[in-house]
Amino acid sequence: TQVQKPPHIAIVPTPGMGHLIPLVELAKKLVLHHHFFVTFIIPTDGSSLKSQKAVLESLPNAISYIFLPPVSFDDLPKDVRPETLIVLTLTRSLPALRDSFKVLAESTPLVALVVDLFGVVAFDLAKEFGALSYIFFPTTAMCLSLIFHIPEFDETYSCEYKELPEPVKLPGCVPVQGIDILDPIQDKKNDTYKRVLHVARRYPFADGIMVNSFMDLEPSAFKALMEGAKEGKPPVYPVGPLIQSGLSRGVDGSECLNWLDKQPNRSVLYVSFGSGGTLTHEQLNELALGLELSGQRFLWVVRSPHENASANYFSVQSFKDPFDFLPKGFLERTKEVGLVVPSWAPQAQVLSHGSTGGFLSHCGWNSTLESIVHGVPIIAWPLYAEQRMNAVLLADDLKVALRVKVNDKGLVGHKDIANYARGLIEGEEGKLLRNKMNELKDSAAKALSQDGSSTKSLAEVTQLWKSHKK
Ligand code: UDP
Repeated sequence: TQVQKPPHIAIVPTPGMGHLIPLVELAKKLVLHHHFFVTFIIPTDGSSLKSQKAVLESLPNAISYIFLPPVSFDDLPKDVRPETLIVLTLTRSLPALRDSFKVLAESTPLVALVVDLFGVVAFDLAKEFGALSYIFFPTTAMCLSLIFHIPEFDETYSCEYKELPEPVKLPGCVPVQGIDILDPIQDKKNDTYKRVLHVARRYPFADGIMVNSFMDLEPSAFKALMEGAKEGKPPVYPVGPLIQSGLSRGVDGSECLNWLDKQPNRSVLYVSFGSGGTLTHEQLNELALGLELSGQRFLWVVRSPHENASANYFSVQSFKDPFDFLPKGFLERTKEVGLVVPSWAPQAQVLSHGSTGGFLSHCGWNSTLESIVHGVPIIAWPLYAEQRMNAVLLADDLKVALRVKVNDKGLVGHKDIANYARGLIEGEEGKLLRNKMNELKDSAAKALSQDGSSTKSLAEVTQLWKSHKK
């Protein structure tokens, strides 16, 4: 008798480690708990191949991956925004993606295509192969709600978001000031605005949207989205928090972990701006002086400065030695209390370490979820993408973060930084934030438990996939 082959899911991530990492976690659940085959088909411009491969290696056998031939951006001006590059990486890879689909579909039945937030341009291909189109939305329900509203806002607001006199009210969400709305749509004249608008218009064509958040974290936002599904919008499934498990990127993180082992319980402020975030030289200085002034212990992942906050998005490693940019004598003066590591730290392990008491974070959603899962309160210092919206959610709604204030010079000053650090690690306010964060930690664990809300909604999706007839 012929053994029936398990149905196949194709996952097509767009560039950015923050997109790939949670998709890998999703894939693991699909093969281990739901018995699918998964193939990652990866469009790329050739950068960050090494870090991507490190994440993809040592995955279960039922997960395979292929890199598509790298696309070229030689024809583009140098100042193109990362979101445009992300969309173009996929658009320019569509012919190669079709070839891969053909090969896949010959061997096993392809039931669904899963893309991330910018991947909707591949939906037509899925249709061509009789597969369902799903989005894995790697950030909040609040941001998903915004995406659904972008086309409508485009018609109702003629000004820029930052000029809106009233905060934007998304159904079931805490109000967001215009200036805090998704960064790539803040300049309507920029090409990126049109690309995001185009992407947003395609969202209603998804067969379903999985969100890397959970019901108890954003209950009213999810309820509103689910109401939308009754009116013909795609069904929305909270399936998170899916966060990095296992060692990150094959980088040897023992220096950080050994150092943390020697620090007192909950005493260390971990400072990191994600895989792509950078500060200006002036701001880097203020941060260094602020950490020093605070007298708190810190573990700082430092990157070479850049005028553009997302400068590192398409190349994770900074090219210059970041230590050259620190204030004179800083490392020497702080060596008793601080550890400064260039470019990358084993973040998941750092946040799960008992010595870590707070996280100064750019509020990238993966970092935020990792902080929630490990119960670490946050100093929110958003830089780009949807990070300001995440900071609003964390500080104004969930009350698990202090949000930094920018002074009239456009900087977060060193005295303020020192106050935030002290307040979070030692202060009363820090205690309140930590307690609240611990509640979220518990509800996150519950969502992922066997009968938890996220486990159930992923099972619902996989059930639909298994019963899909072409
Ligand atoms: N990360 C890490 N070490 C670092 C910086 C980042 O392991 O020094 C990981 C982090 O744990 C998270 C991801 O990279 O899983 C960053 O994703 P996030 O959404 O927070 O921010 P992005 O990098 O996309 O801005």
